[in-house]
Amino acid sequence: MHYKEVKGILSPRNGMNIYRGCTHGCIYCDSRSRCYNMSHDFEDIEVKSNALILLEEALKRKRKKCMIGTGAMSDPYIHLEEQLMHTRKALEIIDKYGFGLSIQTKSNRILRDLDLLKSINEKAKCVVQMTLTTYDEGTCKIIEPNVSSTKERFEVLKVMRDNKIPTVVWLDPILPFINDTEENLRGILDYCIEAKVYGILCFNMGLTLRAGNREYFYAKLDKHFPGLKEKYHKKYGYSYEIISDNNKALMDIFKYTCKENGIVFNVNEIFKYMHTFEAKEKVEQLSFF
Ligand code: SF4
Repeated sequence: MHYKEVKGILSPRNGMNIYRGCTHGCIYCDSRSRCYNMSHDFEDIEVKSNALILLEEALKRKRKKCMIGTGAMSDPYIHLEEQLMHTRKALEIIDKYGFGLSIQTKSNRILRDLDLLKSINEKAKCVVQMTLTTYDEGTCKIIEPNVSSTKERFEVLKVMRDNKIPTVVWLDPILPFINDTEENLRGILDYCIEAKVYGILCFNMGLTLRAGNREYFYAKLDKHFPGLKEKYHKKYGYSYEIISDNNKALMDIFKYTCKENGIVFNVNEIFKYMHTFEAKEKVEQLSFF
């Protein structure tokens, strides 16, 4: 772990990453890709030392409230968060200034901050995004080794449901020859139905590979799935998009099941929902008139 002072914390679309790098070890992680120009090892977490000061200044300056997003490039609940609590402190700032939050993680450490998630959601909107890729717990431990299992993430989704905090599931990525099966998909969809998720994001049944993450992914395939790297090489070469042969059949099941259960699956609609700030008090006042 090392500290670095940064110039800004919020992106033009109000996204932020408190940390850079991640210790969750997902074998397919796109954030490892060379195009992101990380100057340190991926597991050597860069802690943005002035992130909280910058966040507070930025929120104070904003004329209009909005949703603040986090978790796109680095999980906000990495191991280090247990001691540093920078994510928690960022949530306190977001709560203090009445902004909304859209937060993405694979860790049940998020439950520590349930009080803040509830508070943000009472004043504005808090959307918790969880990634679910692998129903089988043994395979999940290989693919996403250092983070909560799929079942543990399902438990988090249910806690959010019980606390009226809306959730979105990223059904992504799906790895050809590993978890691109109907059984896997139906298992995850059953979890989503029971947890009453608002929406499921799934672009297609596949993954993306490019310089940096491809090498890491192939090394892990060699270790855990002997012979599979050669199969990927033969079928996909150096393609960026790696789409499963079962894509159409699985996408049909996915869309049909979502429709049947009132789960939003239109990607644009879900992103719009996650980016739209809603002040709860205002809604109540309007309905009074
Ligand atoms: S949790 Fe996200 S950022 Fe961390 S290793 Fe997994 S995919 Fe990468």
